[in-house]
Amino acid sequence: MTTEEAGSDLVVAYVVRHIGCEACGGTYRPEDVQVVLHHDTQWALKATCPVCYVERAITAYDQPPYQQLRRDPGLFVPAPITSDDSSMWADFLATFTGDVYDLLAT
Ligand SMILES: [Zn+2]
Repeated sequence: MTTEEAGSDLVVAYVVRHIGCEACGGTYRPEDVQVVLHHDTQWALKATCPVCYVERAITAYDQPPYQQLRRDPGLFVPAPITSDDSSMWADFLATFTGDVYDLLAT
């Protein structure tokens, strides 16, 4: 466990404040959350519910992953959206009959 790493207290505190047990709805205490892995801005955590003992894997980031794309020049950065892209999507959506789930699966 690497809980001594800088920033781990903040990540664990976030989990304690905002994430609960999926099985029973119980809340986590700081001692129920362990840092399993920390690489660059990504954290892998394991939370064990103090009520029902169900374990949950949680992935957290120091910042939203899309912001990391702009920071790391070695990563692929998609081209900006052009007016042609907007027109193409407008045409597509004008005839699209599905819901949001269908759209995201397209
Ligand atoms: Zn639980």
